[in-house]
Amino acid sequence: MSRGNINISSLVRPNIAKLSPYTSARDEYKGNEGVFLDANENPFGTVNRYPDPYQKKLKQVISEIKGGSTEQLFLGNGSDEAIDLAYRIFCEPNKDKAIVFTPTYGMYEVYANINAVELITLPLDSLFQIDTTLVEPYLNDESVKLMFICSPNNPTGNLIDRQTIVQLLEQFKGIVILDEAYIDFSIEVSWLEQLSQYSNLIILQTLSKGWGMAGLRIGMAWMSEELLYYFNKVKSPYNLSIINQQQAIEVLRDTEGFKQRIELLLSERERVTKELKNLSIVKVIYPSEANYLLVEFDNANQIYEELISRQIIVRNRSKVVQNTLRISIGLAEENNQLLAVLKAL
Ligand SMILES: *Cc1c(COP(=O)(O)O)cnc(C)c1O
Repeated sequence: MSRGNINISSLVRPNIAKLSPYTSARDEYKGNEGVFLDANENPFGTVNRYPDPYQKKLKQVISEIKGGSTEQLFLGNGSDEAIDLAYRIFCEPNKDKAIVFTPTYGMYEVYANINAVELITLPLDSLFQIDTTLVEPYLNDESVKLMFICSPNNPTGNLIDRQTIVQLLEQFKGIVILDEAYIDFSIEVSWLEQLSQYSNLIILQTLSKGWGMAGLRIGMAWMSEELLYYFNKVKSPYNLSIINQQQAIEVLRDTEGFKQRIELLLSERERVTKELKNLSIVKVIYPSEANYLLVEFDNANQIYEELISRQIIVRNRSKVVQNTLRISIGLAEENNQLLAVLKAL
């Protein structure tokens, strides 16, 4: 199933293809020991040295946990950085386009706008699945460089059908960016095992959600070596700080704690779902493969305001799915506070 028919270099913007990246002195000298007088660093202090531009140690730890190769891994300042870089690598401003399936994660659109890339927004169907007939006109359109697929999808919580993704990977002539930000909460296995089959696939993951490190801003983008070459070329050389890398490694070592916290959040997701089902103000609870629930109410705006007045903050998604709130699963006592307020309404 390997796809030889996509010429990655022809998708890359000419200025990026030509670009010679900034090379730090540390790119040339690989050793750890030595007298370092090459980078205008201050010799005093504890964080006085620039971080490893390729984050080798952290990548090693992540690849052991996730099972992918360090040679196919880009680390960004949040996976949002990888989204921005994808636009900057592949999309010529005011010329090239990208596809998103809505409702979905808002940052695909924000970065498209920042980079002056026209976004083709195709609505998901009534089950929040991709309607492939809507995509067909764009499959061979040379100006459409990127396609974002979010699975589990934010804010709807559902997985996108695997067969549909296979079909799009095989038929689309651009890059498919599959966002697995919530994969740790899902019964579905990651697409990482399939990465080598698709030269046009980029898989986004993050330490922000399942791993609980949103404050560190570390996101992963898995891709072929050929694609990674361009991401490494375009990224800022020192995009992840030393402190962030060290802290992430420390948290990642506690794999048992990670598993326990995921279990806990999943059982809370189930409990909150059951309790919400008993409330007459709740119309629909969409099945979730993530750490949030999209819930349809009689009057979502009103309930949103009621919750705010009691300092319970949820996300009002009524503008994208009528009368819905997106509710993150919190600690048991936080969820109880939410439920108590809703019950009393
Ligand atoms: C939260 C989220 C991200 C952002 O991840 P960061 O690594 O924190 O930038 C990416 N994609 C989706 C769908 C998200 O919900």
